[in-house]
Amino acid sequence: MRPTIATIRFGDIASNYQLACDFAPDSKSIAVIKANAYGHGMVELARILEPMVPVFAVAVMEEALQLRDAGIVKPILVLQGINQNSDAAEAVKSDFWLLLHNQQQVDRVIAATLSSPVRVWLKVDTGMHRLGFAPQALDRLCVDLHKSLNVQQELVLCTHLACADDRDNQMTREQVRVIRSCAAKYRLATSIANSAGIMYWPESHAEWNRPGYMLYGLCPTGSFTGDSNGLRPAMTMNSEVIAIRELKAGEGVGYGRDWVAKRASRIGTIAIGYGDGYPRHAPSGTPVLVNGERVPLTGRVSMDAISVDLTDLEKVEVGDPVELWGQNLSVNEVASFAGTIGYEILAGLTGRVPLNFRQ
Ligand SMILES: *Cc1c(COP(=O)(O)O)cnc(C)c1O
Repeated sequence: MRPTIATIRFGDIASNYQLACDFAPDSKSIAVIKANAYGHGMVELARILEPMVPVFAVAVMEEALQLRDAGIVKPILVLQGINQNSDAAEAVKSDFWLLLHNQQQVDRVIAATLSSPVRVWLKVDTGMHRLGFAPQALDRLCVDLHKSLNVQQELVLCTHLACADDRDNQMTREQVRVIRSCAAKYRLATSIANSAGIMYWPESHAEWNRPGYMLYGLCPTGSFTGDSNGLRPAMTMNSEVIAIRELKAGEGVGYGRDWVAKRASRIGTIAIGYGDGYPRHAPSGTPVLVNGERVPLTGRVSMDAISVDLTDLEKVEVGDPVELWGQNLSVNEVASFAGTIGYEILAGLTGRVPLNFRQ
């Protein structure tokens, strides 16, 4: 078997979840496990976390149904709500909670024929301007939803923070002010904080928090230096050196011959590429750990392989272990080289890399 494998440590995820709870002891923490739990294996993680968490959140109904098919019984909040008339009945049947963000979704819920009322959260647009109702729309919405027998009467007002990962950006304060004034006016519970809100904006902690990225042990600011706040990166992506060759000065490596040896160089080939989710835009110089030592990526990332410069390593052989990211090299650092964020790398892992689950 190919040596490329991602190890997922359940214990670290449980510890990170506990940390999210400890940051906000008065809030209930919903574990966000959309996008295959940011690449960490949604179903397997849900099984492990189920005894600890009150509610799971996913982006879309298809993900929620996959969890039910796997036997998960805790409520599941569907963050983008419903898309079809029949989805409301499916939500009741499957105990999904619906975060509704537009009038069409509200109309569908009200018009549906339901065996019992569905649990509804309302998304409020407090400044991100992506999804949700304007605060002024809530008067009429609350009346309509209150009248409907299809809707459980404890609505929750939910908003999403646009800039919480920027600790100097005052927009977060304004968003919190707006949602709190709505919550006071309608006397409803709220949900505001994502990971960055939980970690950096205590004023955003509310009845329900929604930690995602931090559960996987990564800092939502993209930071990879300094204090990790006790977060433990739960995934380590490993592979091996599968070939080594000696180059003369002036010889190039990989597609386009983008990297050319300035000196006699020893180049290693590693069994991972963008077909696995390694970011194709990672440039020469992106760090890779070979035998625990940092070496630079050389040349373009290909579909099934990358090359690294091993010249400065004392001793290296085919079969030596490689860490692409994990406990000793943050995916946030790899992402910063590749001009992206760790979220994208993790969510973009393809099914080709097997996940190896560990306690
Ligand atoms: C993805 C998502 C979250 C989790 O955000 P993180 O930054 O990963 O903590 C929370 N709320 C909503 C609405 C989301 O879409």
